[in-house]
Amino acid sequence: MKPAAFDYIVPRTVPEAVEALGSADGRAQILAGGQSLILDMRLQRLRPELVVDINRIAGLDRMSTDGSTLRVGALVRHDAFVSARSVPGPLGALFARAAPHIAHPPIRSRGTMVGSFAWAHPASEWCAIGAALDADVELRGPEGRRAVPARDYFHGRHLTARRPDEMLTGVRFPLLGDSTGVGFIEHRRTHFCFAQVAVAAALTVRDGVISEARIGLVNCADRPVRAHAAEQVLIGAGAWASVDRRPLADGHPFARAGRIAAEQDAAPRPEPYADVEYKRHTVAVLVTRTLCQAVRDRRSRLAGPEGEPV
Ligand SMILES: Cc1cc2nc3c(=O)[nH]c(=O)nc-3n(C[C@H](O)[C@H](O)[C@H](O)COP(=O)(O)OP(=O)(O)OC[C@H]3O[C@@H](n4cnc5c(N)ncnc54)[C@H](O)[C@@H]3O)c2cc1C
Repeated sequence: MKPAAFDYIVPRTVPEAVEALGSADGRAQILAGGQSLILDMRLQRLRPELVVDINRIAGLDRMSTDGSTLRVGALVRHDAFVSARSVPGPLGALFARAAPHIAHPPIRSRGTMVGSFAWAHPASEWCAIGAALDADVELRGPEGRRAVPARDYFHGRHLTARRPDEMLTGVRFPLLGDSTGVGFIEHRRTHFCFAQVAVAAALTVRDGVISEARIGLVNCADRPVRAHAAEQVLIGAGAWASVDRRPLADGHPFARAGRIAAEQDAAPRPEPYADVEYKRHTVAVLVTRTLCQAVRDRRSRLAGPEGEPV
């Protein structure tokens, strides 16, 4: 199929882009990487009257840190995160574990992280990490700027707090310190499919005890999920107990967190090749494994004077 006819504009500044969006009365779409938009237009799932191509706006391709947060601009491509060295500390390691799961290299070289937040697909790896870390989504509209935390931003499949005359200018993540270990594990049918289920985890461990836990679930509901109920089980649990043993004991906090994530946090929909029971089982297994991976990451990141984790 061919896209329906549309007008095309290439603004050079963010205010020009916002003005163009406002002029179209909700019938405009921004073109960032084009890796989802072009397909949606070719299949005529979207029929914008105006396409606003933001690729010539200077500065949107930048990442920056202020010591406590990382800001990712609207034109930073997925493949910027494949190397753990692009972003400081454990956040870079988490991004580097997730990025190779996003489609394949040509798509990663054009598609943008911020475009994924705009598209808001429940199977997006970045959106689940954003939910787990409660990233701030930065929006610019005719009335100025606002930042919306991920917990308020995602409203459903392709539904967000963004108004039609607003554009996303960036996403801001909290940087993670060296006492945090990270994990990311994805399950998909073939390399070219979206995830059936994936899990992102960040565990902060002090004196051998988990003091903070963040778990994000990919493709386990109509939107990216932060697994609050599972996280609660982990606070105060010893981090080093038996994570290298297979299988983990049923009563191990990570096994319990897996079951709780599957039963209480996830609200999976059936899809071809994965019914609800299968998806819940996969959530339980992957949460447990991802937590083990996060502890091993934490252990390797920081050792005490005797080589013991602290
Ligand atoms: C074969 C295939 C496999 C894929 N597999 C995966 C996968 O495994 N995981 C995954 O997460 N994604 C996957 N994708 C999607 C891909 O990652 C896209 O790059 C991403 O979803 C959107 O980013 P984009 O920059 O290409 O956005 P575009 O395609 O340009 O835009 C997507 C939507 O977001 C809007 N938009 C984009 N940027 C902004 C902005 N700054 N402000 C406001 N609105 C904006 C557009 O108007 C449009 O509605 C896949 C795509 C394909 C074609």
